[in-house]
Amino acid sequence: MPVSRLFEKAKRLVESGRVESLGQGVYNVVGDHGTYTVVQDYTGKWSCSCPGFMQKAKCSHVTAVILLTKSRRRQKPRQTRF
Ligand SMILES: [Zn+2]
Repeated sequence: MPVSRLFEKAKRLVESGRVESLGQGVYNVVGDHGTYTVVQDYTGKWSCSCPGFMQKAKCSHVTAVILLTKSRRRQKPRQTRF
């Protein structure tokens, strides 16, 4: 999947409220094919439990969580464009 497509998908996940923070760097993401767990370890590295991440070390779920945390940190309204 091209990076731009990945981004579009991640944005859609965030906007439809399918990213849920469980606290302590753990997130639940409801993807199109199942619910996955996205975790940030103490070094700041992200990982996801989906098959796509295991293959490519990146996926729309991790991207969605990063988008969400970035938009929160900046404290900007929801219409922020990425
Ligand atoms: Zn994933």
